[in-house]
Amino acid sequence: MVDLKRQYEKIRPEVDEAVLEVIRSTKYINGPEVQAFREELENYLGVKHVVPCGNGTDALQVAMMALDLKPGDEVITTSFTFVATVEVIALLGLTPVLVDVDPDTFNMDPEAFRKAITPKTKAVVPVHLFGQSVNMDPVLDIAREHGLYIIEDNAQAIGSDYIFPDRSKQKTGTIGHIGCTSFFPSKNLGCYGDGGALFTNDDELAKKLRVIVNHGMETRYYHDSVGVNSRLDSIQAAILRIKLRHLDEYAAARRKAADYYDAAFKDHPGLITPERSRFSTHVFHQYTLKTMGIDRFALQEYLKGKEVPAMVYYPVPMHMQKAYDDPRYKEGDFPVTEELSRQVISLPMHTELDDEQLAYITENVLSFFKEKA
Ligand SMILES: *Cc1c(COP(=O)(O)O)cnc(C)c1O
Repeated sequence: MVDLKRQYEKIRPEVDEAVLEVIRSTKYINGPEVQAFREELENYLGVKHVVPCGNGTDALQVAMMALDLKPGDEVITTSFTFVATVEVIALLGLTPVLVDVDPDTFNMDPEAFRKAITPKTKAVVPVHLFGQSVNMDPVLDIAREHGLYIIEDNAQAIGSDYIFPDRSKQKTGTIGHIGCTSFFPSKNLGCYGDGGALFTNDDELAKKLRVIVNHGMETRYYHDSVGVNSRLDSIQAAILRIKLRHLDEYAAARRKAADYYDAAFKDHPGLITPERSRFSTHVFHQYTLKTMGIDRFALQEYLKGKEVPAMVYYPVPMHMQKAYDDPRYKEGDFPVTEELSRQVISLPMHTELDDEQLAYITENVLSFFKEKA
């Protein structure tokens, strides 16, 4: 699905030198590389504060801790997401309230969000799934109207722009109160291990986030709040500094691959290509097709036989997961999410796809329909 090896080969001398330099410096934790990366990411995103942390799941947890959410508080998010979003809500004793998504963008349906609000609702977590922004303007309005915090799960969309109705742009993850991201290796800005970060424009919140990721401690060994230990290490920061300089070029390479796929599958009766929404640029964390009238697991098996990987993100929505079994929800509650879970399949999507590979992948997808459908 990704080709991290070929990507590494292109930046290898720089990366190797930077990693060795950190090792020689012995400044492994919170060293100058972490501070430099933090500043460079702030500049890239146009956000006041970046707080690096251990991974994207921690980022979501720390965000909810900083907002002083209490057990019983309701947090609204979508059922069609990666589990981390819902996991941290449950872990903190908060109540996840799930809503359906838009069938074309796979992202939160703002009207469904509005309808799910109760007097207990404290926050909403829009997930910018697969590389494009949630329709944030209505989400901002609704959240403002009801006094709710917005925590953006930007793990899949770093570098993407939300386009406001007046056509002005803002980077996803910097629009709500707090944005969260992941530097997991396969993410659009991935390091060579685990990593994550929080973003905010609010000085007070930034201070709280920095204290929470560091054991709730501002002055060493004095703990004013319960915190966690969640750090981005200096080696990962050194790698991320190099990769951040390539992020826009990486997004362009992903878009080029998506264009190729789009052209090959356009007007195919069994495939619907991913919509590019008018209120977002797309950084194609995933290239996800909707299939019609076929068993996409049979397509996945067929492609596997041709050595083409394909994945289903996500086969089981959160409200139908054993761990999040909840008497409030049953099968049928989120029809769009459930239908997408039955339809979607994602093709290889990364920065190193060349025309020969894309031709091979698309020919095999199309031949499945000729042979099997
Ligand atoms: C990857 C991901 C996360 C979690 O990031 P980790 O760094 O793996 O903990 C959270 N939300 C979404 C939508 C993700 O894709």
